[in-house]
Amino acid sequence: MFVNKNYRPFEEKVWLAKPFMHGPEQTYMTEAYETNWMTTAGKNIEEVERLTAGKIGVKYCVGLSAGTAALHMALKLAGEAVYGKPKIGFGALFQKKVFCSDCTFDASCNPIVYEGGIPVFIDTEYETWNMDPEALAKAFKLYPEVKIVVIAHLYGTPAKMDEIKAVCDKNGAVMIEDAAESFGAVYRGRQTGSLGMAGCLSANGNKIITGTAGGMLVTNSFEASRKVKKWSTQSREDAPWYQHEELGYNYRMSNVVAGVLRGQFPYLEEHIALKKRIYERYKKGLEGLPVSMNPYDEKNSEPNFWLSCMLIKPEAMCRQVRGERDSCYVPEHGKSCPTEILEAMGFIRAEGRPIWKPMHMQPIYRRNEFIGREGSCLGSSSLDVGMDIFNRGLCLPSHVKMTEEEQNRIIEVIRACFE
Ligand SMILES: *Cc1c(COP(=O)(O)O)cnc(C)c1O
Repeated sequence: MFVNKNYRPFEEKVWLAKPFMHGPEQTYMTEAYETNWMTTAGKNIEEVERLTAGKIGVKYCVGLSAGTAALHMALKLAGEAVYGKPKIGFGALFQKKVFCSDCTFDASCNPIVYEGGIPVFIDTEYETWNMDPEALAKAFKLYPEVKIVVIAHLYGTPAKMDEIKAVCDKNGAVMIEDAAESFGAVYRGRQTGSLGMAGCLSANGNKIITGTAGGMLVTNSFEASRKVKKWSTQSREDAPWYQHEELGYNYRMSNVVAGVLRGQFPYLEEHIALKKRIYERYKKGLEGLPVSMNPYDEKNSEPNFWLSCMLIKPEAMCRQVRGERDSCYVPEHGKSCPTEILEAMGFIRAEGRPIWKPMHMQPIYRRNEFIGREGSCLGSSSLDVGMDIFNRGLCLPSHVKMTEEEQNRIIEVIRACFE
Protein backbone atom coordinates (compact mmCIF):
# COMPACT_ATOMS: atom_id res chain seq x y z
CA MET A 1 0.00 0.00 0.00
CA PHE A 2 1.08 3.56 -0.68
CA VAL A 3 3.19 4.92 2.13
CA ASN A 4 3.21 8.68 1.74
CA LYS A 5 6.58 10.13 2.63
CA ASN A 6 5.50 13.64 1.64
CA TYR A 7 6.66 13.32 -1.93
CA ARG A 8 7.02 16.66 -3.59
CA PRO A 9 4.68 17.14 -6.57
CA PHE A 10 6.27 18.10 -9.90
CA GLU A 11 6.15 21.82 -10.64
CA GLU A 12 5.10 20.95 -14.14
CA LYS A 13 2.92 17.93 -14.76
CA VAL A 14 4.76 14.90 -16.22
CA TRP A 15 2.66 13.60 -19.08
CA LEU A 16 2.01 10.12 -20.38
CA ALA A 17 3.00 11.25 -23.86
CA LYS A 18 3.17 14.66 -25.48
CA PRO A 19 4.39 16.25 -28.69
CA PHE A 20 7.98 17.42 -28.93
CA MET A 21 9.04 19.85 -31.67
CA HIS A 22 12.56 20.23 -33.01
CA GLY A 23 12.64 23.13 -35.49
CA PRO A 24 12.16 21.93 -39.07
CA GLU A 25 8.42 21.59 -38.38
CA GLN A 26 8.12 25.37 -38.29
CA THR A 27 10.17 25.79 -41.47
CA TYR A 28 7.86 23.51 -43.48
CA MET A 29 4.69 25.02 -41.97
CA THR A 30 5.95 28.50 -42.80
CA GLU A 31 6.82 27.37 -46.31
CA ALA A 32 3.22 26.24 -46.81
CA TYR A 33 2.03 29.60 -45.49
CA GLU A 34 4.35 31.74 -47.57
CA THR A 35 3.58 29.89 -50.79
CA ASN A 36 -0.16 29.89 -50.02
CA TRP A 37 -0.35 26.08 -50.15
CA MET A 38 -2.75 26.24 -47.20
CA THR A 39 -4.87 23.39 -48.47
CA THR A 40 -5.07 19.62 -48.82
CA ALA A 41 -2.44 19.50 -51.54
CA GLY A 42 1.19 20.55 -51.71
CA LYS A 43 4.83 19.68 -51.31
CA ASN A 44 4.58 18.73 -47.62
CA ILE A 45 1.94 16.08 -48.30
CA GLU A 46 3.95 14.68 -51.18
CA GLU A 47 7.03 14.50 -48.97
CA VAL A 48 5.17 12.88 -46.06
CA GLU A 49 3.83 10.24 -48.44
CA ARG A 50 7.26 9.63 -49.95
CA LEU A 51 8.99 9.49 -46.55
CA THR A 52 6.33 7.22 -45.03
CA ALA A 53 6.32 4.75 -47.92
CA GLY A 54 10.13 4.71 -47.81
CA LYS A 55 10.26 4.15 -44.06
CA ILE A 56 7.61 1.44 -44.02
CA GLY A 57 9.06 -0.24 -47.10
CA VAL A 58 5.90 -0.20 -49.22
CA LYS A 59 5.19 1.28 -52.62
CA TYR A 60 2.39 3.72 -51.81
CA CYS A 61 1.17 6.00 -49.05
CA VAL A 62 -1.86 8.28 -48.90
CA GLY A 63 -1.84 11.15 -46.40
CA LEU A 64 -5.15 11.46 -44.53
CA SER A 65 -6.74 13.57 -41.82
CA ALA A 66 -6.39 10.91 -39.09
CA GLY A 67 -5.39 7.36 -38.33
CA THR A 68 -9.09 6.67 -37.88
CA ALA A 69 -9.73 7.87 -41.43
CA ALA A 70 -6.95 5.56 -42.64
CA LEU A 71 -8.61 2.62 -40.87
CA HIS A 72 -11.96 3.56 -42.38
CA MET A 73 -10.46 3.66 -45.88
CA ALA A 74 -8.61 0.36 -45.28
CA LEU A 75 -11.83 -1.37 -44.22
CA LYS A 76 -13.69 0.02 -47.21
CA LEU A 77 -10.90 -1.32 -49.44
CA ALA A 78 -11.01 -4.73 -47.80
CA GLY A 79 -14.81 -4.83 -47.89
CA GLU A 80 -14.97 -4.03 -51.57
CA ALA A 81 -12.19 -6.51 -52.36
CA VAL A 82 -14.01 -9.32 -50.57
CA TYR A 83 -17.71 -8.50 -51.01
CA GLY A 84 -17.81 -6.18 -54.02
CA LYS A 85 -19.09 -2.64 -54.32
CA PRO A 86 -21.88 -1.90 -51.83
CA LYS A 87 -25.22 -0.37 -52.69
CA ILE A 88 -25.46 3.25 -51.57
CA GLY A 89 -26.42 3.41 -47.93
CA PHE A 90 -25.32 -0.10 -47.00
CA GLY A 91 -21.58 0.09 -46.44
CA ALA A 92 -18.93 -2.27 -47.77
CA LEU A 93 -19.22 -4.58 -44.74
CA PHE A 94 -23.00 -4.55 -44.39
CA GLN A 95 -23.95 -7.21 -41.83
CA LYS A 96 -20.60 -8.94 -42.26
CA LYS A 97 -18.56 -10.07 -39.30
CA VAL A 98 -14.98 -8.77 -39.05
CA PHE A 99 -12.45 -10.13 -36.55
CA CYS A 100 -10.68 -7.42 -34.56
CA SER A 101 -8.21 -6.97 -31.70
CA ASP A 102 -10.06 -6.69 -28.40
CA CYS A 103 -7.53 -4.94 -26.20
CA THR A 104 -7.12 -1.68 -28.12
CA PHE A 105 -8.41 1.83 -28.68
CA ASP A 106 -11.93 1.93 -30.12
CA ALA A 107 -10.68 3.60 -33.32
CA SER A 108 -9.42 0.11 -34.29
CA CYS A 109 -12.94 -1.25 -34.57
CA ASN A 110 -15.32 1.72 -35.01
CA PRO A 111 -14.57 1.94 -38.75
CA ILE A 112 -15.90 -1.62 -39.12
CA VAL A 113 -19.22 -0.24 -37.92
CA TYR A 114 -18.94 2.86 -40.16
CA GLU A 115 -19.11 0.37 -43.04
CA GLY A 116 -22.05 -1.50 -41.55
CA GLY A 117 -20.01 -4.46 -40.29
CA ILE A 118 -20.10 -6.35 -37.01
CA PRO A 119 -16.86 -6.49 -34.99
CA VAL A 120 -16.14 -9.84 -33.37
CA PHE A 121 -13.46 -9.39 -30.72
CA ILE A 122 -10.53 -11.77 -30.46
CA ASP A 123 -8.83 -12.20 -27.09
CA THR A 124 -5.30 -11.15 -26.23
CA GLU A 125 -2.17 -13.20 -25.47
CA TYR A 126 0.30 -12.57 -22.62
CA GLU A 127 3.53 -12.48 -24.66
CA THR A 128 2.91 -9.23 -26.61
CA TRP A 129 -0.53 -8.11 -25.33
CA ASN A 130 -1.89 -8.37 -28.87
CA MET A 131 -4.36 -10.60 -30.73
CA ASP A 132 -3.98 -14.26 -29.75
CA PRO A 133 -3.42 -16.39 -32.91
CA GLU A 134 -4.92 -19.42 -31.15
CA ALA A 135 -8.09 -17.52 -30.31
CA LEU A 136 -8.17 -16.29 -33.92
CA ALA A 137 -7.90 -19.87 -35.21
CA LYS A 138 -10.79 -20.77 -32.97
CA ALA A 139 -12.83 -17.84 -34.27
CA PHE A 140 -12.38 -19.12 -37.84
CA LYS A 141 -13.66 -22.53 -36.74
CA LEU A 142 -16.82 -20.85 -35.49
CA TYR A 143 -17.15 -18.41 -38.41
CA PRO A 144 -15.27 -19.73 -41.46
CA GLU A 145 -17.09 -17.19 -43.65
CA VAL A 146 -15.19 -14.23 -42.10
CA LYS A 147 -12.59 -12.79 -44.49
CA ILE A 148 -11.20 -9.63 -42.85
CA VAL A 149 -9.08 -9.29 -39.70
CA VAL A 150 -7.97 -6.02 -38.05
CA ILE A 151 -4.83 -6.36 -35.94
CA ALA A 152 -3.50 -3.62 -33.65
CA HIS A 153 0.10 -3.45 -32.43
CA LEU A 154 -0.55 -2.29 -28.89
CA TYR A 155 1.68 0.37 -27.32
CA GLY A 156 4.11 -0.03 -30.22
CA THR A 157 4.75 -3.76 -29.71
CA PRO A 158 4.39 -5.91 -32.84
CA ALA A 159 1.80 -8.68 -32.65
CA LYS A 160 2.67 -12.32 -33.42
CA MET A 161 2.28 -11.63 -37.11
CA ASP A 162 3.70 -14.88 -38.54
CA GLU A 163 1.25 -16.97 -36.55
CA ILE A 164 -1.64 -14.60 -37.28
CA LYS A 165 -0.80 -14.49 -41.00
CA ALA A 166 -0.66 -18.30 -41.15
CA VAL A 167 -4.16 -18.49 -39.65
CA CYS A 168 -5.45 -15.80 -42.04
CA ASP A 169 -3.87 -17.46 -45.10
CA LYS A 170 -5.31 -20.83 -44.15
CA ASN A 171 -8.77 -19.26 -44.03
CA GLY A 172 -8.41 -17.00 -47.07
CA ALA A 173 -8.73 -13.82 -45.00
CA VAL A 174 -6.99 -10.47 -45.50
CA MET A 175 -5.21 -8.55 -42.73
CA ILE A 176 -5.53 -4.84 -42.00
CA GLU A 177 -2.86 -3.54 -39.63
CA ASP A 178 -3.65 -0.84 -37.13
CA ALA A 179 -0.09 0.44 -36.70
CA ALA A 180 -1.27 3.78 -35.25
CA GLU A 181 0.79 3.25 -32.09
CA SER A 182 3.66 1.33 -33.64
CA PHE A 183 5.14 3.63 -36.30
CA GLY A 184 8.77 2.53 -36.70
CA ALA A 185 8.38 -0.81 -34.89
CA VAL A 186 9.97 -3.78 -36.63
CA TYR A 187 8.81 -7.39 -36.89
CA ARG A 188 11.32 -9.89 -38.31
CA GLY A 189 13.11 -7.15 -40.22
CA ARG A 190 9.93 -5.57 -41.60
CA GLN A 191 8.09 -2.47 -40.46
CA THR A 192 4.65 -2.85 -38.89
CA GLY A 193 2.09 -1.58 -41.39
CA SER A 194 3.76 -3.39 -44.29
CA LEU A 195 2.60 -6.89 -43.39
CA GLY A 196 -1.06 -6.92 -44.48
CA MET A 197 -3.28 -5.76 -47.31
CA ALA A 198 -3.11 -2.21 -45.93
CA GLY A 199 -1.46 -0.55 -42.95
CA CYS A 200 -2.76 2.43 -40.98
CA LEU A 201 -0.54 4.93 -39.18
CA SER A 202 -1.40 7.88 -36.97
CA ALA A 203 0.23 11.28 -36.50
CA ASN A 204 -2.04 12.27 -33.62
CA GLY A 205 -0.49 14.57 -31.01
CA ASN A 206 0.36 11.82 -28.53
CA LYS A 207 1.90 9.35 -30.99
CA ILE A 208 5.63 8.75 -31.50
CA ILE A 209 5.87 11.54 -34.10
CA THR A 210 3.07 13.95 -34.85
CA GLY A 211 1.63 16.43 -37.29
CA THR A 212 -0.80 17.68 -34.57
CA ALA A 213 -3.22 15.27 -36.25
CA GLY A 214 -3.14 13.16 -39.38
CA GLY A 215 -2.91 9.58 -40.55
CA MET A 216 -1.42 7.55 -43.37
CA LEU A 217 -2.60 4.52 -45.28
CA VAL A 218 0.19 2.40 -46.71
CA THR A 219 -0.11 -0.36 -49.29
CA ASN A 220 1.75 -2.08 -52.11
CA SER A 221 -1.26 -1.90 -54.42
CA PHE A 222 -1.33 1.01 -56.84
CA GLU A 223 -5.04 0.39 -57.42
CA ALA A 224 -5.78 0.58 -53.69
CA SER A 225 -3.80 3.80 -53.22
CA ARG A 226 -5.58 5.37 -56.19
CA LYS A 227 -8.99 4.46 -54.74
CA VAL A 228 -8.18 5.86 -51.32
CA LYS A 229 -6.90 9.09 -52.82
CA LYS A 230 -10.14 9.43 -54.78
CA TRP A 231 -12.50 8.49 -51.92
CA SER A 232 -10.72 10.80 -49.48
CA THR A 233 -11.18 13.80 -51.80
CA GLN A 234 -14.95 13.48 -52.28
CA SER A 235 -14.78 10.82 -55.02
CA ARG A 236 -14.64 13.17 -57.96
CA GLU A 237 -14.70 11.53 -61.35
CA ASP A 238 -12.52 12.70 -64.19
CA ALA A 239 -14.90 15.29 -65.68
CA PRO A 240 -15.03 19.09 -66.08
CA TRP A 241 -17.71 19.38 -63.37
CA TYR A 242 -18.24 17.63 -60.07
CA GLN A 243 -19.21 14.20 -61.31
CA HIS A 244 -19.85 11.42 -58.75
CA GLU A 245 -20.20 7.68 -59.18
CA GLU A 246 -19.15 6.68 -55.68
CA LEU A 247 -19.61 7.89 -52.11
CA GLY A 248 -17.00 10.49 -51.18
CA TYR A 249 -15.23 11.53 -47.98
CA ASN A 250 -13.32 14.61 -46.92
CA TYR A 251 -10.37 12.78 -45.37
CA ARG A 252 -7.29 14.27 -46.99
CA MET A 253 -4.33 15.50 -44.92
CA SER A 254 -3.75 19.26 -44.71
CA ASN A 255 -0.52 20.60 -46.15
CA VAL A 256 0.10 22.52 -42.90
CA VAL A 257 -0.31 19.37 -40.81
CA ALA A 258 1.94 17.59 -43.29
CA GLY A 259 4.54 20.32 -42.77
CA VAL A 260 4.71 19.57 -39.05
CA LEU A 261 4.90 15.85 -39.67
CA ARG A 262 7.52 16.24 -42.39
CA GLY A 263 9.66 18.15 -39.91
CA GLN A 264 9.30 15.36 -37.33
CA PHE A 265 10.43 12.60 -39.68
CA PRO A 266 14.18 13.00 -39.11
CA TYR A 267 13.53 12.51 -35.36
CA LEU A 268 11.51 9.29 -35.48
CA GLU A 269 14.49 7.06 -34.67
CA GLU A 270 15.65 9.46 -31.95
CA HIS A 271 12.20 9.37 -30.34
CA ILE A 272 12.23 5.57 -30.46
CA ALA A 273 15.68 5.47 -28.82
CA LEU A 274 14.50 7.85 -26.06
CA LYS A 275 11.33 5.80 -25.50
CA LYS A 276 13.40 2.65 -25.31
CA ARG A 277 15.65 4.23 -22.71
CA ILE A 278 12.58 5.14 -20.65
CA TYR A 279 11.35 1.54 -20.90
CA GLU A 280 14.76 0.17 -19.84
CA ARG A 281 14.98 2.59 -16.92
CA TYR A 282 11.54 1.53 -15.65
CA LYS A 283 12.50 -2.09 -16.05
CA LYS A 284 15.62 -1.58 -13.97
CA GLY A 285 13.98 0.79 -11.48
CA LEU A 286 11.12 -1.62 -10.76
CA GLU A 287 13.38 -4.65 -10.29
CA GLY A 288 12.59 -6.61 -7.16
CA LEU A 289 8.94 -5.54 -7.14
CA PRO A 290 6.25 -8.13 -7.97
CA VAL A 291 5.69 -6.51 -11.38
CA SER A 292 6.76 -6.92 -15.01
CA MET A 293 6.93 -4.58 -17.99
CA ASN A 294 4.77 -4.85 -21.13
CA PRO A 295 6.49 -7.78 -22.86
CA TYR A 296 7.72 -8.25 -26.42
CA ASP A 297 9.37 -10.93 -28.51
CA GLU A 298 13.02 -9.95 -28.01
CA LYS A 299 14.24 -12.34 -30.68
CA ASN A 300 11.93 -11.35 -33.52
CA SER A 301 10.69 -7.86 -32.86
CA GLU A 302 11.86 -4.36 -32.01
CA PRO A 303 8.98 -2.24 -30.64
CA ASN A 304 8.96 1.55 -30.86
CA PHE A 305 8.33 1.60 -27.08
CA TRP A 306 5.60 4.22 -27.50
CA LEU A 307 4.29 3.65 -23.96
CA SER A 308 5.95 1.85 -21.07
CA CYS A 309 3.46 -0.23 -19.10
CA MET A 310 3.64 -2.45 -16.06
CA LEU A 311 1.71 -5.48 -14.89
CA ILE A 312 1.30 -6.45 -11.23
CA LYS A 313 1.66 -10.15 -10.34
CA PRO A 314 -1.69 -11.68 -9.29
CA GLU A 315 -0.42 -12.49 -5.78
CA ALA A 316 0.65 -8.86 -5.24
CA MET A 317 -2.74 -7.36 -6.11
CA CYS A 318 -4.75 -5.80 -3.31
CA ARG A 319 -8.53 -5.89 -3.69
CA GLN A 320 -9.73 -3.53 -6.41
CA VAL A 321 -13.25 -3.10 -7.71
CA ARG A 322 -14.01 -1.25 -10.90
CA GLY A 323 -17.45 0.00 -11.77
CA GLU A 324 -18.49 1.50 -15.07
CA ARG A 325 -16.86 4.86 -14.44
CA ASP A 326 -14.89 4.71 -11.21
CA SER A 327 -13.04 2.33 -8.98
CA CYS A 328 -11.97 1.70 -5.41
CA TYR A 329 -9.50 -0.53 -3.59
CA VAL A 330 -8.60 -1.82 -0.16
CA PRO A 331 -5.03 -0.83 0.86
CA GLU A 332 -2.91 -3.74 2.01
CA HIS A 333 0.73 -3.99 3.15
CA GLY A 334 3.08 -5.36 0.50
CA LYS A 335 0.40 -5.19 -2.20
CA SER A 336 -1.02 -2.65 -4.58
CA CYS A 337 -3.23 -2.24 -7.66
CA PRO A 338 -3.46 0.06 -10.71
CA THR A 339 -6.07 2.27 -9.00
CA GLU A 340 -3.75 2.93 -6.07
CA ILE A 341 -0.65 3.48 -8.22
CA LEU A 342 -2.48 5.87 -10.54
CA GLU A 343 -3.72 7.76 -7.49
CA ALA A 344 -0.22 7.93 -6.00
CA MET A 345 1.29 9.11 -9.29
CA GLY A 346 -1.47 11.70 -9.61
CA PHE A 347 -0.45 12.98 -6.15
CA ILE A 348 2.96 13.99 -7.55
CA ARG A 349 1.40 15.23 -10.81
CA ALA A 350 2.59 12.36 -13.00
CA GLU A 351 0.09 11.13 -15.56
CA GLY A 352 -0.49 7.39 -15.79
CA ARG A 353 -3.42 5.59 -17.38
CA PRO A 354 -5.18 2.26 -17.13
CA ILE A 355 -4.54 -0.26 -19.93
CA TRP A 356 -7.03 0.01 -22.84
CA LYS A 357 -10.28 -1.38 -21.50
CA PRO A 358 -11.13 -4.35 -23.73
CA MET A 359 -13.69 -3.63 -26.42
CA HIS A 360 -15.99 -6.49 -25.43
CA MET A 361 -16.38 -4.83 -22.01
CA GLN A 362 -17.32 -1.46 -23.47
CA PRO A 363 -21.05 -0.72 -23.16
CA ILE A 364 -21.22 0.07 -26.88
CA TYR A 365 -19.84 -3.38 -27.85
CA ARG A 366 -21.04 -5.50 -24.95
CA ARG A 367 -23.47 -7.41 -27.16
CA ASN A 368 -20.79 -8.19 -29.71
CA GLU A 369 -19.16 -11.55 -29.60
CA PHE A 370 -15.84 -12.13 -27.86
CA ILE A 371 -13.76 -15.18 -28.63
CA GLY A 372 -10.96 -16.41 -26.37
CA ARG A 373 -8.83 -19.48 -26.82
CA GLU A 374 -10.77 -21.36 -24.18
CA GLY A 375 -14.31 -20.35 -24.96
CA SER A 376 -16.64 -18.20 -26.94
CA CYS A 377 -17.76 -15.81 -24.30
CA LEU A 378 -21.39 -14.88 -24.33
CA GLY A 379 -22.20 -16.31 -20.96
CA SER A 380 -19.55 -19.01 -20.83
CA SER A 381 -16.78 -18.64 -18.30
CA SER A 382 -13.66 -18.50 -20.39
CA LEU A 383 -10.25 -17.14 -19.57
CA ASP A 384 -10.33 -13.46 -20.46
CA VAL A 385 -6.72 -12.35 -20.96
CA GLY A 386 -7.60 -8.78 -22.00
CA MET A 387 -9.59 -8.19 -18.80
CA ASP A 388 -6.84 -9.73 -16.70
CA ILE A 389 -4.26 -7.33 -18.18
CA PHE A 390 -6.70 -4.43 -17.80
CA ASN A 391 -7.21 -5.29 -14.12
CA ARG A 392 -3.54 -5.67 -13.25
CA GLY A 393 -1.78 -3.32 -15.67
CA LEU A 394 -1.21 0.38 -16.19
CA CYS A 395 0.55 2.79 -18.57
CA LEU A 396 3.39 4.84 -17.13
CA PRO A 397 4.50 8.38 -17.99
CA SER A 398 6.58 7.91 -21.15
CA HIS A 399 7.05 11.19 -22.92
CA VAL A 400 10.34 11.57 -24.76
CA LYS A 401 11.68 14.50 -22.80
CA MET A 402 10.97 13.13 -19.34
CA THR A 403 14.20 13.56 -17.36
CA GLU A 404 15.96 10.79 -15.49
CA GLU A 405 15.32 12.68 -12.26
CA GLU A 406 11.58 12.86 -12.98
CA GLN A 407 11.48 9.20 -13.82
CA ASN A 408 13.36 8.26 -10.63
CA ARG A 409 10.79 10.12 -8.55
CA ILE A 410 7.98 8.28 -10.31
CA ILE A 411 9.71 4.95 -9.69
CA GLU A 412 10.14 5.86 -6.03
CA VAL A 413 6.40 6.48 -5.68
CA ILE A 414 5.57 3.19 -7.41
CA ARG A 415 7.92 1.40 -5.01
CA ALA A 416 6.18 3.09 -2.08
CA CYS A 417 2.90 1.55 -3.25
CA PHE A 418 4.24 -1.93 -2.51
CA GLU A 419 5.48 -1.20 1.04
C1 LIG B 1 -4.41 6.65 -31.98
C2 LIG B 1 -4.95 5.38 -32.43
C3 LIG B 1 -5.82 5.30 -33.54
C4 LIG B 1 -6.42 6.49 -34.22
O1 LIG B 1 -5.56 7.40 -34.73
P1 LIG B 1 -6.03 8.94 -34.87
O2 LIG B 1 -4.97 9.54 -35.71
O3 LIG B 1 -6.08 9.49 -33.49
O4 LIG B 1 -7.36 8.95 -35.53
C5 LIG B 1 -6.23 4.06 -33.96
N1 LIG B 1 -5.85 2.94 -33.32
C6 LIG B 1 -5.05 2.98 -32.25
C7 LIG B 1 -4.64 1.68 -31.62
C8 LIG B 1 -4.59 4.19 -31.75
O5 LIG B 1 -3.83 4.22 -30.65
